[in-house]
Amino acid sequence: ENTRKNILITGGAGFIGSHVVRRFVNTYKEYQIYNLDALTYAGNLENLKDIEDAPNYSLIKGDITHSDFISDLFSKKKFDGVIHLAAESHVDRSITEPLSFVKTNVLGTVNLLSASLELANNNQDFIFYHISTDEVYGALGKEGLFSETTPYSPNSPYSASKASSDHFVRAYGETYGLPYVISNCSNNYGPNQFPEKLIPLFINNIIHNKPLPVYGDGKYTRDWLYVKDHAEAIDLVFHHGKRGETYNIGGFNEWRNIDLTKVLCRVMDKKLNQLEGTSEELITFVKNRPGHDLRYAIDASKIYKELGWKPSVTFEEGLEKTIDWYFDNLEWLRHVTSGDYREYYKKQYQQ
Ligand code: NAD
Repeated sequence: ENTRKNILITGGAGFIGSHVVRRFVNTYKEYQIYNLDALTYAGNLENLKDIEDAPNYSLIKGDITHSDFISDLFSKKKFDGVIHLAAESHVDRSITEPLSFVKTNVLGTVNLLSASLELANNNQDFIFYHISTDEVYGALGKEGLFSETTPYSPNSPYSASKASSDHFVRAYGETYGLPYVISNCSNNYGPNQFPEKLIPLFINNIIHNKPLPVYGDGKYTRDWLYVKDHAEAIDLVFHHGKRGETYNIGGFNEWRNIDLTKVLCRVMDKKLNQLEGTSEELITFVKNRPGHDLRYAIDASKIYKELGWKPSVTFEEGLEKTIDWYFDNLEWLRHVTSGDYREYYKKQYQQ
């Protein structure tokens, strides 16, 4: 029987975190789910409107970089497990403000690890689960896949901060015996993603007839996974993953940016009842991101074989669902693209 009932999820108001919180609150009524989130620009309680009144859900507004607050919280609440997603997550922002990535992703993670030690000493079922990215492995050439044993070789301040936090998790396991598990996932897309990331940015720009900024020559290649499939994988790893192990999670779904953009444009033209080719005219190539990795691709066969996980939707299905969600939630999109977002967008794309 599973004795982990008091679960802390960090970053639950963000994109992936909100899907994980919803899944846990709805699936495990016997658990108490605590969502710890600082509600930065990326955290949005509108993402959780449908479950905010559930009896097994509580929001804790707080910052993981505040060590006193974290140790106090952990000694009061006695969590049985932590699923850690809170992070600064946007590569482009990490290039202009690397230090905030060190603070939240490295320092914040170490605060959580330190506070977890005592809980783990008193509870043999305790587990610390770190959610990470495939970007820690660096770039691939035309061939090959990242596996769990690929050496770390991060190229952006974002991936360097995530690689560092992965290492700290491992070190707490080796040095202090903290039970942990890590998963490294490819690019997520789906409902509730903040429109600074490629797919929602382009959906929003097509709706407003604005240019679609594609980096470099558009040949950069990423693997894409539907966010609800990631949430399912997280559920499986949390409950059945082996302690001290890493699992790679991917969509078996590689796309060059330019090809992905063209597919997106076609689906959008259909939705907007406009002639095929209309949205494609918005594509503009912009100066490449510095340190931009050419290709990421994931070998997800370990989680497939050991935990029986595989993506449930094809890319086309996931994309349709995502676009439908943005059309049904234009109000959400309008809220998050007002205010500070405008300033950020101006700085990023219109210098
Ligand atoms: P996001 O930016 O949408 O959400 C991050 C959340 O963390 C927000 O709710 C924010 O308010 C919160 N947060 C930020 N700083 C905090 C702090 N100091 N204290 C407490 N809360 C804080 O991110 P996301 O895309 O949902 O990613 C979640 C996690 O998954 C991250 O750790 C990221 O590295 C990882 N990941 C993301 C992807 C992806 O494609 N988005 C892929 C692989 C792994």
